[in-house]
Amino acid sequence: METTRGIIFNIQHFSIHDGPGIRTTVFLKGCPLRCPWCSNPESQRMNPEPMLDAVTKAPGTTGQEKTVDEIINEVMKDIDFYEESGGGMTLSGGEIFAQFEFAKALLKAAKEKGLHTAIETTAFVEHEKFIDLIQYVDFIYTDLKHYDSLKHKKKVGVQNSLIIKNIHYAFKEKKTIVLRIPVIPQFNDSLADAEEFSTLFNSLDIDQVQLLPFHQFGENKYKLLGRRYQMENVKALHPEDLYDYQQVFLDHNIHCYF
Ligand code: SF4
Repeated sequence: METTRGIIFNIQHFSIHDGPGIRTTVFLKGCPLRCPWCSNPESQRMNPEPMLDAVTKAPGTTGQEKTVDEIINEVMKDIDFYEESGGGMTLSGGEIFAQFEFAKALLKAAKEKGLHTAIETTAFVEHEKFIDLIQYVDFIYTDLKHYDSLKHKKKVGVQNSLIIKNIHYAFKEKKTIVLRIPVIPQFNDSLADAEEFSTLFNSLDIDQVQLLPFHQFGENKYKLLGRRYQMENVKALHPEDLYDYQQVFLDHNIHCYF
């Protein structure tokens, strides 16, 4: 029996955008970063907290404690779909490394059941913990928000050095990985920024990146949490706004896509 406990804020069945095949995505609460564009603001604080219901606007709570066994039992309900589609379990957040022991126990338990595993992570964690956990992971989604550590810290609260070290390691180890850049107006969206990202990736032998144009999908959740959304006056971006930006990466022999 695996009784390690952790705090989650959602379990989403039939996910088709969180890795190969049909998946169940488990969202862990807690994140050491504070991105103003975060589309899951209810994930940031570790503990359960008040949040209005999205439909009825009735007072409620987001976040609940669960054991690894409880979650794996829930995930295993869709085993037939995973087998048919090549899917499995994805851990997302928040930042899964904020609950390191819980995330590791979940992934280990999933592997013992023969499941394909994926994670979505900022990679902001001590290098040893990153190495330790990804031995149980088949597929990694991660992102780099800024190439400049001070600008990174100013915007999201932490420097980028650990993140770059861990991402570099995952590429070097030839893990199956999708690296993304959330492209945010006035932060990292200029052609000069694309040049700097490309130069960094070339120096690390990183040869692919996905661009995520800024959107305002999480806006309503800030109201439900009683928090202010800082990005309300920032215009959303679309792929067609970023073709020149994309071209900079392509010119550096980096496979860059949306
Ligand atoms: S790293 Fe992700 S979960 Fe954490 S604040 Fe940023 S967008 Fe939100």
